Amino acid sequence: MACTVVVGAQFGDEGKGRVVDYLAAKADVVIRFQGGNNAGHTVVNELGTFRLHLIPSGIFYPKVKCLLGAGVVVDPTSLLEEIASLEAARVNTSNLWIDRRAHVVWPYHRLLDGAGEKKGGLGTTQRGIGPVYGDKATYRGVRIGDLLHPDFLKQRLDTVLPIKNHEMAFYGLAPLKLEDLLAEAKEWRNKLENRIVDAIPILRAAEANKQRILLEGQLGVMRDLNWGIYPYSTASSPTSGGACEGTGLSPQAINNVIGVVKAYTTAVGGGPFPTELLDEDGKRLREVGDEYGATTKRPRRCGWLDTVIIRYAAELNGFTGIAITKLDVLDSFAKIKICTAYSTNGAKVTEMPDTCDLATVKPVYEEWEGWKQPSTRTRKWDDLPPNAQTYLRRIQSLVKVPIKYVSVGAERENLITMPDTGIGS
Ligand code: GDP
Ligand code: MG
Repeated sequence: MACTVVVGAQFGDEGKGRVVDYLAAKADVVIRFQGGNNAGHTVVNELGTFRLHLIPSGIFYPKVKCLLGAGVVVDPTSLLEEIASLEAARVNTSNLWIDRRAHVVWPYHRLLDGAGEKKGGLGTTQRGIGPVYGDKATYRGVRIGDLLHPDFLKQRLDTVLPIKNHEMAFYGLAPLKLEDLLAEAKEWRNKLENRIVDAIPILRAAEANKQRILLEGQLGVMRDLNWGIYPYSTASSPTSGGACEGTGLSPQAINNVIGVVKAYTTAVGGGPFPTELLDEDGKRLREVGDEYGATTKRPRRCGWLDTVIIRYAAELNGFTGIAITKLDVLDSFAKIKICTAYSTNGAKVTEMPDTCDLATVKPVYEEWEGWKQPSTRTRKWDDLPPNAQTYLRRIQSLVKVPIKYVSVGAERENLITMPDTGIGS
């Protein structure tokens, strides 16, 4: 494994938490590199079912050092709640650390996000993520390490808060008071100061000792700030490039990039989604796949697999392998479709169109026979139903990246691993 990045190849919710949890068994360090508590990474293990929002999915292995990297944004109230709920479920969180450079999500970020959504929403999770990255980029942010320097913190908030209160007034929201924020910050400092560190020496030591590092992304390429369906995107980069940027590891340090691909497509929130199914098949994917958001419980939009997206993701990220998840959800379908291209004004396109054009393209489909057999108990490639093997081989040949893992259930053991070369042709 050495240094492996795990990223989403679609719109998010591909099953990254599940894949990271599996790979973390052999890791020394797991680090989240972007996003905040808008993530919902589900891990099912012997302790229960957990929906992680900010904490890396390596947390279930006490010997694994779990880090929130510089590129992450931290809502301390939500983080403290997440720590408490894990501890209540007897998960040891003493090996959780936060890079001092990570930015703080303040209550005004959440309020502004919520108010913005009411006035012409894009479908955000209203966790303040867009506003906090906006403040970071315009030098109005506060870093978690600043909590350890009360005088500096006061000076920063003194400058920033009047501007934020002005924005709040635009939305008809009551102003926040400096002393209230400082009191909250003191509370956060008392509870978090022992976890705030410089991640760089930790990562350099891990590299020097040839330890295994896993980098965990949130969302997927279609929500990337540059490469996704802007403005229906997130405010950071959930790609392997973003992984370097958000951790302090150089591109040369990365050995493997695993793209997590759901065997069909889902999306939460707004924006174009060419293979979305508004029919019975779409409903069936949602019900069988239990496609309801881990963070917001919103029903996820569902559709067939779109390999234009996966190829785009593979090239942008440099996938060395892919993990196909939720294959079992397709078990009962008689026919399964794969989108191989888009058609627009009579022309066939395989490059990713602009957001506005993506909303009007029509998917070009291939249709494959389903396997109509349960796959969940399968532990070996050879035992998968032949039509499921055909479906997976076709995906591999369209995407041109070896399939390294096939997940056939949410639990740890429901995973088939392939040789390094993938499943052959
Ligand atoms: P993430 O945000 O990428 O970590 O994905 P989510 O956790 O939001 O969504 C994936 C959902 O699918 C979770 O509820 C997982 O427990 C579940 N899941 C993951 N892999 C499989 C699988 O192979 N089969 C089934 N049936 N469920 C899975
Ligand atoms: Mg999720």
